[in-house]
Amino acid sequence: MSAVAESLLCDRCGAPLTVGPRARFVTCTHCGARLSVHRSDSAAWTETLEEVAAATGRIEAKLDALHRRPQLDALEQEWERMQDELGVPVRLGRRRPPTAKDASHMALGFQTLAVLTFGAIAIGAALKGEGGAFLFGLLWASGVGALMWCLAWLAQRGGIERVQRYEAAERDYRRRRAELLGGSEAAGERRGEAR
Ligand SMILES: [Zn+2]
Repeated sequence: MSAVAESLLCDRCGAPLTVGPRARFVTCTHCGARLSVHRSDSAAWTETLEEVAAATGRIEAKLDALHRRPQLDALEQEWERMQDELGVPVRLGRRRPPTAKDASHMALGFQTLAVLTFGAIAIGAALKGEGGAFLFGLLWASGVGALMWCLAWLAQRGGIERVQRYEAAERDYRRRRAELLGGSEAAGERRGEAR
């Protein structure tokens, strides 16, 4: 670096400036801009201080985003796991949100099975049983049918619970995501006011 005064140009208006060899700041004599002086091994240039502040703000915003990125990634992964756990398989490994209709279909399946089982056992008992044997068959059919009906009820309840859990998880995911993303925007605004 030379020990004599340098001749630089104002970053804002382009006017020539004479800057001392070690000066770090200079005020433009032509437009009055406050400038910082930057030097590399081969060159020297000026930058208006407002731009320095803006660049610092940009770096802060970037660091902020870098800090949030792992949290966002973790949130996305958690949501994907939830979808895998609670979603309904469609095809090719894809899933869709569960619906109350799924629960009804499952329940209807068990109810149909309950009626068919009861009917089959009852008819079987009627065909070969007489008296006490027939009554026992009817009782047996009612028991199995009632058990199937309970399974239908459990399936319906489980399906509705699954829909509610899915909806709660989705609300939670959207809220936390908005918080993470909205937080960085708010931080940017605060920096903007400070300048
Ligand atoms: Zn100037």
